Amino acid sequence: MIKVEQITKVFGKNPVLKNISTTIHQGEVVAIIGPSGSGKSTFLRCLNLLEKPTEGKIYIKDREITDPKVNILEVRKHIGMVFQQFNLFPHMTVLENVTYAPQKVKKLAKGEVEKNAKDLLAKVGLSDKVDSYPSQLSGGQKQRVAIARALAMEPEIMLFDEPTSALDPEMVKEVLDVIKDLAETGMTMVIVTHEMNFAKEVADRVIFIDDGVILEDAEPHQFFNAPKSERAKDFLSKLL
Ligand code: ADP
Ligand code: MG
Repeated sequence: MIKVEQITKVFGKNPVLKNISTTIHQGEVVAIIGPSGSGKSTFLRCLNLLEKPTEGKIYIKDREITDPKVNILEVRKHIGMVFQQFNLFPHMTVLENVTYAPQKVKKLAKGEVEKNAKDLLAKVGLSDKVDSYPSQLSGGQKQRVAIARALAMEPEIMLFDEPTSALDPEMVKEVLDVIKDLAETGMTMVIVTHEMNFAKEVADRVIFIDDGVILEDAEPHQFFNAPKSERAKDFLSKLL
């Protein structure tokens, strides 16, 4: 589904990703783990071209998206992204947030889009918040709206960048449960997370990035019980 070939990303003179390669298969759930500033967000953002790799190639379903001729907006239609800070449209209701892109980008009829949006909001447990504004929601509710909004575009891949890092502790579970349900539907997902128990339980693979390099790419069992690199051992030993 996703093939990353030797990508490098340099900001100014600062190399942030250094020759990264990996393949993510359809239906796989991959957790990206690593210290702050190691390049996790940059890597994720390269996958939907929010950042353009300085060098290297990325293929989505055998199509090279790093080819300059590719229409970036077309690529992004098929890749949903959920950010730490929700990024909901503050002046729109929950329903409008979820229906905006499908109406605008996919040019689908309003009735169809609204029915689909209400189904998605029911799935994330927010049927009673359809007409609320983001400011009236808790962090966990906002993040569930953000997930429903991404799903409304019927993406083939979902990217999550620390989706629970901005949440109060009591709201983390409700969001992780939604992501876990989604994983069980067979969605291809890449999730940057500090939730190690979630990674252990839900991910098929863990990629450990340190200083712009993939140091480990392993099954969770292997990664958490027998990490190969000293850097990963050190990282894991410092967690609670
Ligand atoms: P992580 O998500 O692992 O914390 P990031 O990918 O956000 O790491 O950042 C990796 C490095 O790249 C950091 O040193 C950060 O300051 C730098 N960086 C990220 N985005 C930009 C940008 N748009 N311009 C310049 N430097 C950036
Ligand atoms: Mg980050």
